[in-house]
Amino acid sequence: MKTTPILCLSVLALFFAAAARPQTASTPELPYSPSLNLSSMDKSIDPCVNLYQYSCGRWQQQNPIPPDQTSWSVYAKLYEDNLNFLRGILEQAAAGTGQRDVVTQKIGDFYAACIDESAIETRGVGAIQPQLQAIDGLKSVHDLAPLVAHLQLYFNRSLLFGNGSVQDPDNSEQIIASLDQGGLGLPDRDYYTKDDAKSKETRERYVQHVQKIFELLGDNPETAKSNAQTLMRMETALAKASLTRVEQRDPYKLKNKMDLPALVKLAPNFDWQTYYTQLQYPKIAILNVTAPAFFKQVNTELSSEPLINWKTYLRFHVADSSSPYLSANFVQENFDFYRKYLRGAKELQPRWKRCVQYTDRNLGEALGQAYVRQVFSPELKQSTLDMVQRIEVAMEQRIRNLDWMSPETKQQALSKLHGIRNKIGYPDKWRDYSSVTIVRNDFLADVHNAVEFEHRRDIAKIGKPVDHGEWDITPPTVDAYYNPQMNDINFPAGVLQPPLYDAKMDDAPNYGDTGGTVGHELTHGFDDEGSQFDAQGNLKNWWTKADREKFDERTKCVRDQYAQYIVVDDVHINSALTLGEDVADLGGEILAYIAWKSATKDKNLQPIDGLTPEQRFFIGFAQWDCANERPEDLRMRAQVDPHSPAPDRINGVVVNMPEFAQAFGCKAGQPMVKPTEKVCRVW
Ligand SMILES: [Zn+2]
Repeated sequence: MKTTPILCLSVLALFFAAAARPQTASTPELPYSPSLNLSSMDKSIDPCVNLYQYSCGRWQQQNPIPPDQTSWSVYAKLYEDNLNFLRGILEQAAAGTGQRDVVTQKIGDFYAACIDESAIETRGVGAIQPQLQAIDGLKSVHDLAPLVAHLQLYFNRSLLFGNGSVQDPDNSEQIIASLDQGGLGLPDRDYYTKDDAKSKETRERYVQHVQKIFELLGDNPETAKSNAQTLMRMETALAKASLTRVEQRDPYKLKNKMDLPALVKLAPNFDWQTYYTQLQYPKIAILNVTAPAFFKQVNTELSSEPLINWKTYLRFHVADSSSPYLSANFVQENFDFYRKYLRGAKELQPRWKRCVQYTDRNLGEALGQAYVRQVFSPELKQSTLDMVQRIEVAMEQRIRNLDWMSPETKQQALSKLHGIRNKIGYPDKWRDYSSVTIVRNDFLADVHNAVEFEHRRDIAKIGKPVDHGEWDITPPTVDAYYNPQMNDINFPAGVLQPPLYDAKMDDAPNYGDTGGTVGHELTHGFDDEGSQFDAQGNLKNWWTKADREKFDERTKCVRDQYAQYIVVDDVHINSALTLGEDVADLGGEILAYIAWKSATKDKNLQPIDGLTPEQRFFIGFAQWDCANERPEDLRMRAQVDPHSPAPDRINGVVVNMPEFAQAFGCKAGQPMVKPTEKVCRVW
């Protein structure tokens, strides 16, 4: 299902995060910064007027967005530190020759191949020549199926559409096949359908980008231009038949289970039998199609678009999805459109930085092993687990004390809470990459081999028991997630480092920051979306009708509140998209506060640096998300990111917490306090 996993931050934002900072690769270490940083604060601001500005004002002044970044934040900085650290590990692994263990050979040679720009330059577009020839040799539209299967396996899983395995929404212990919408070059279907001037401009700019890619493939400008228009027309038709991001938050909309004959009936123009044989799927008893209307549209286009247009479509997507791994002209064009135009970055990231990220993305659980050995001690694991357990106890207390929920629903909620698995730091069992061929002199082949391995691993899960130890993100990732079908919360080692979790600091800022993150993920199990899954991760209602109505009223309060906030220019938050995250932000901080009070009830807490313990809790909370954002990136994220912008994720929460007003002695009527408006509380 597309419902999994619900990430705390945006991976999209983080994958591209990080900036150039001189640090020698031979001495990798994670620099320390405290979880409450006085020098980040702007004390000229009244916290009752703007807690975010008060806590982060000087951080914003001192941390301009580096030219190779689309935004900059405490999370992005930590991710940057991680990249520097991983660079040291990779350079060492790459330098080694002779006897290296399997893991070191894989990550070392992958990185070495990526760094070797002259080999990549020499190959040029020849690196994708076999696939371009296969496309060129296509004899009929009917023959598309095996070729699409082949290209999805090596290039891009959602080329034309997505495929893989998922947990059965009705029986989470069973893995079934899945098909998902896809096939677009712009970040979201709305880019193709919206009528405002900016959307029109973006489409024009995209068509130019597509034309440029065709020119790089050798088309003359005129042909390239007409090919770009063909591609845009085909994608626009697919986009119109695609679900919106808000629709995709409804798990019942995404649940469309059928057998293979039903799929054949839905889209008879595509040779599904050959497609699945080519991909070596196990026998398919049942599959879930998230967006049947999309596949109907694919079917229509298969008969309405001539073979030559399909060749055009595939050529572009093979080249576009490979561009980051090809020669400099492709890399530059990819940057110019996707990162510079769409997201506002000024410069391409240095080669090493991209290569570290590609290694993490493709061989993450190999690279992660060395990382956790050095930065994640058993003591750190124990202390963060202790915090997680305290927050679960706080959640239990909250559920028991809710005055609006019936005992029956409370019983179900508690059973769901008790069913949550806590995963901390890294997987107990590492993914085994020994079968993946990685060589030092052919970067694109390495990427293809890793992508194929991952895709085949995913397909092979069909019909097998669920592996509850599996992770969806890698250990160095600075992020966390809740997976509603697994009913588990996952905190990789990367997100449990200072300044987010700071073993040297007092409890208050740690609970405000990481405690809030833990509470956030826990609350995802009970947000408007996650709450539709039961303790076993099945899509099954466990609410009484009356309780669900009261719950919906409460989430509506949050939705109405965030709809008022402006992201950039005249673009408001799409609070139907961000609702789950906003509910999780609010619930998470309330839980963190309760857990912190309980953890410190026997301690005689005193002010530190002139700040009371309660003030330190809330400043610690605000400082998790100190950030600077480019308007281009804000605009894109308003369309695709289910998270609200940084200031709203802080101020939008504390206006609903009387504990905050009390901590700073805020008076009724001050902008940050909502004495007359309704205070939102969901959990
Ligand atoms: Zn989240």
